[in-house]
Amino acid sequence: MSDPLVTRMHPYGETIFATMSALALEHDAVNLGQGFPDTDGPVQVLEAAREAISAGHNQYPPSVGIPGLRAAIAEHQQRHHGILLDPSDEVLVTSGATEAIAAALLGLVEPGDEVVTFEPSYDSYSAGIALAAGVKRAVPLTFPDLTVDPDRLAAAFSDRTKVVLLNTPHNPSGKVFTREELELVADLARRHDAWVISDEVYEHLTYGVPHVPIATLPGMHERTLTIGSAGKFFSVTGWKVGWISGPAHLVRAVRVVKQFLTFTTASPLQHAVAAALRMGPAPLTDLSDSLRARRDLLVDGLAASGFSVRPSEGTYFVVADAAPLGVTDAATWCLDLPAATGVAAVPVSVFCDDPAPTATLVRFAFCKQESVLHEGCRRLAAYTG
Ligand code: PMP
Ligand code: GLN
Repeated sequence: MSDPLVTRMHPYGETIFATMSALALEHDAVNLGQGFPDTDGPVQVLEAAREAISAGHNQYPPSVGIPGLRAAIAEHQQRHHGILLDPSDEVLVTSGATEAIAAALLGLVEPGDEVVTFEPSYDSYSAGIALAAGVKRAVPLTFPDLTVDPDRLAAAFSDRTKVVLLNTPHNPSGKVFTREELELVADLARRHDAWVISDEVYEHLTYGVPHVPIATLPGMHERTLTIGSAGKFFSVTGWKVGWISGPAHLVRAVRVVKQFLTFTTASPLQHAVAAALRMGPAPLTDLSDSLRARRDLLVDGLAASGFSVRPSEGTYFVVADAAPLGVTDAATWCLDLPAATGVAAVPVSVFCDDPAPTATLVRFAFCKQESVLHEGCRRLAAYTG
């Protein structure tokens, strides 16, 4: 029998995160693969969700999101970035950043339109572009320095470019784009009259470098949609509450699509996230301080096991080169790793159309408890040792 799945989705089977978490469970491995915190978010945030359920916020909220959350998102963008938004039509609540990405691509990209993105890129980008029947034009970020090559960037643009899909801080690499790099992107987007979809879910998870929203560069607000996620802000990845904001005409394109994907997003969780965003900077700075220490712990542990590590400036992730350990194919190596060592990790090649340049690179997540990271490092050292 032929495969009923539409052809353009054939390359996208099970996500690497599902595969690796299942292997981690099967082998009782330390899961440094899928990026989710192994501790809960702030207790007040969890309590706010319980209270919202008890208060009866259990029926469909407005499709665009509850007014209190849209206002809190607009306040956040103003407080942190000086971006002024009208919460009535310039902010849309989504079911996670994943829905925001898919709905934005489906709302902006006609079949055959080109979407410029950096590679490696978060796994839902290729799949989202395929859903919209767009054409991906990938600009490689080359390890270990990962700087943007202006010529390769310019070469990815054409008169078919409709969208630039940007991610900073960047999953899987941990790179935070510099202002100069973002200016290069902005200049090309303006010259080619392209929209920018900027995935900034890790904006508060930077370690000693500034996060620059591309919407704050001259002339960029009017062509940029910016995406955030409560999962990443407040360590509640299972809640799947995200948002997208920008000028009304762009937000409308996403809103039209969102109505027919999920229509709306879980009501009590929206109330809780609105409360969380109004708790001030403490939950956000506490998380980034504690993640920075855990990043250092993992980077040191991986280096001690013989990996060549690129210290990460942001996100939950660090990328390590396993070539010094004699690894030539990290994709196969990572599939064997949970059984062989009791540790799960993710090969970087799964984030790329062309796996060759990243064949020996492995992504490790450090959003885990210190004791878990210590145990993961101990197991890796015993294996490589
Ligand atoms: N973008 C990036 C870069 C991510 O790493 C993730 C998931 N961790 C998402 C989007 C999806 O976020 P959400 O869980 O809010 O859908
Ligand atoms: N974004 C998370 C990661 O990169 C995983 C999200 C998911 O499992 N879809 O690990």
